[in-house]
Amino acid sequence: MKTKFNSSEVFAVLLAAVLAVTGCKTSHHGCCSMASYGMGDAAAVAAVQTKDSQAAMTPAQALAELKDGNARFVAGKPLHRDFPAQVVATAGGQYPFAVVLSCLDSRQPIEIVLDQGVGDIFSARVAGNILDDDILGSMEFACKVSCAKLIAVIGHSNCGAIKGAIDDVELGNLTGLLTKIKPAIDAVPADGQPRTTKNYAFVDAVSAANVKLVQQQIRERSPILREMLDKGEIALVGGMYDLKTGKVQFYDK
Ligand SMILES: [Zn+2]
Repeated sequence: MKTKFNSSEVFAVLLAAVLAVTGCKTSHHGCCSMASYGMGDAAAVAAVQTKDSQAAMTPAQALAELKDGNARFVAGKPLHRDFPAQVVATAGGQYPFAVVLSCLDSRQPIEIVLDQGVGDIFSARVAGNILDDDILGSMEFACKVSCAKLIAVIGHSNCGAIKGAIDDVELGNLTGLLTKIKPAIDAVPADGQPRTTKNYAFVDAVSAANVKLVQQQIRERSPILREMLDKGEIALVGGMYDLKTGKVQFYDK
C-alpha cells in the first residue's frame, strides 16, 4: 500500500527538515563582502559566499552588492574571478545573498550585468519577468530555506514580452504568459500619447508598472515572504535594466 502525501505536506516536511539542519541566522560579524576585494584586483577572486558571510549580510548590504556589481559591469571592470575554484568551493553547499527575477532576454544575462559569481545569487528568468506560483515557491525556497536576504525584480527596456502583451500577440503557450502582463498595461495612466509598441516611452512605462505589480503580488500572494519582509529579515526591490547602457536603475528611493 502506498502512502499518499499532498504537495503541501511534502513541502512542509522538506522545509522542516532543511530548517532543522540549517536555519536562517543573522550574525553581525565576519562579513566578507565581495566589494572588499575592490575593483581591478590582479588576483582572481576564488572566494565564495559562505554561511557566515551570508548570515552577516543585511538586506541593505545585499542590495549594495548588486549595485556595486552593476557599477563594475558598466565601467567594464568586473571582478576577475577564478570560476573553476568557485565551482569547487561551492560544491558542498550554497549561500546566495539574493534571489533575482529577470527577463528571458539574451541581452540581460543577469549574473553578468550584476557582476556576480558562482553561488552568489539565485536567478529566476522568464519572459517579461512575470510571477507564477512556481517562481513564488522558488523565492520562498531562496529566502526561507536558503536564507537569501533580498528579492530583486528587474525588468528591462524595450522588452519583447511587454510589446507582445501590448500587441495582443497570441501564440501557443505564450498567450497565457502575456495575459499575466496585461494588468501592467492598464496600470499606466493615459497621457494623450499613443499606447502602442511604436511609443518606446509607453513600452518602458508598462515594463516599470509590470515590475511594481510583480513586487505587489509577491507580498500579497506569499504569507511566508510577507512575514519575512515585515520583520525586516529580507527586502524586496524593483529595478529596470537599460539595454543601451547596461545600467540597472533600482527603485529603492
Ligand atoms: Zn524582456
